[in-house]
Amino acid sequence: MNVDFLIVGQGLAGSLLAWQLMRQGYKIVIIDNGLENASQIAAGLINPITGMRLVKSADVDSFLPVAKDFYVELSHFFQQDFYIEKPMLRIFNSDKERGYAEKRLNNQDYQPYLGDMHTAIKPLNTPFGYLSQQQTGYLLTRPLLSCLKDFFIARQCYQQRAFDGADIQFQPTLRWHNIIAKRIIFCEGYQAIQNPYFDWLPFQPVKGEILTLAHHRTLPDTILNHGHWLIPLNEAKVRIGATFDWKNLNNQPTEQGKNTLLNSLNSVLDDFQFTLLDHQANVRPCTLDKQAFIGFHPQHPQLAIFNGFGAKGSLQIPHYAQQFANSLSHNAPLPTTATIQRYVTA
Ligand SMILES: Cc1cc2nc3c(=O)[nH]c(=O)nc-3n(C[C@H](O)[C@H](O)[C@H](O)COP(=O)(O)OP(=O)(O)OC[C@H]3O[C@@H](n4cnc5c(N)ncnc54)[C@H](O)[C@@H]3O)c2cc1C
Repeated sequence: MNVDFLIVGQGLAGSLLAWQLMRQGYKIVIIDNGLENASQIAAGLINPITGMRLVKSADVDSFLPVAKDFYVELSHFFQQDFYIEKPMLRIFNSDKERGYAEKRLNNQDYQPYLGDMHTAIKPLNTPFGYLSQQQTGYLLTRPLLSCLKDFFIARQCYQQRAFDGADIQFQPTLRWHNIIAKRIIFCEGYQAIQNPYFDWLPFQPVKGEILTLAHHRTLPDTILNHGHWLIPLNEAKVRIGATFDWKNLNNQPTEQGKNTLLNSLNSVLDDFQFTLLDHQANVRPCTLDKQAFIGFHPQHPQLAIFNGFGAKGSLQIPHYAQQFANSLSHNAPLPTTATIQRYVTA
């Protein structure tokens, strides 16, 4: 089998890059081990204003329109919605946070993303008030990846196998088993820490846990952000998340993770009765400097990486998939913040 690009990993990164390259007419094959990945369990949230200081994400002004267009295109193609726009209520945990919000409300750059500040909304506990945010939403990652997987299978460009870098042959042509490729692109999520060609990159993976709950309470039809978040999937079902654990890098849900999320929920919603429907865990491919890892291996330029999207894959991957596809097809320069060249010493 001869292809232009062999892509390792069918998470959001590998899938959207493959989609972008196929649109440009390239022949690709995706190898994925079929294990549950971070993309499948992610909440898919896009939130332009984050953190205790309510800071606008770098490049959100340019990344967000690209992400929305990308997901609209996929929705048209697969005839179903994947990106759900929903306002968010940012519930303050202190007067200090409220102070930051007041500052941001006076900043022109933040206007497109902010609504009004309020004091109370039933049935939530909001002793320090809250701010409504706009241009927030979430990506339905599992259905999207499932549609894309079926699409790749129908075009005979998906194989469920584990990729072992030790089997790569460079001479006389780049080859992995029976696949001859012009380039191999690794989109392995946090498992890249075991990749013999890219394990020198400073990944800082972070495990996260998420709960899905059924309930009978009437809640505002908005995303809630109170340090942790709550997404109303419908009137009777919510997802809450997510924890951050830098030590235990596995996909095992824990009692401790569950309690952290439920205690946090209780701080904004008294006496919340629920049935636990699901409890999931996986690992975010975060990096030391919080920027993506994109580019070519310094000694083997036929090998490339497209990774490191941390906790912001839904926002960043569409933009970077377009940029990287341009670099692969027209040698366009990679963005200086994301290129792995920043870690290559002369
Ligand atoms: C709990 C949690 C909550 C999150 N919430 C959000 C959120 O709200 N918003 C947001 O934008 N992001 C969120 N994220 C982050 C998001 O999941 C990532 O940014 C993004 O999904 C990473 O995609 P990826 O394709 O790089 O990695 P992955 O989705 O992990 O995909 C990598 C794929 O490669 C496969 N693979 C790896 N090595 C091999 C190999 N050697 N051979 C074959 N296959 C291989 C894996 O099995 C996997 O299928 C969250 C993540 C977690 C864990």
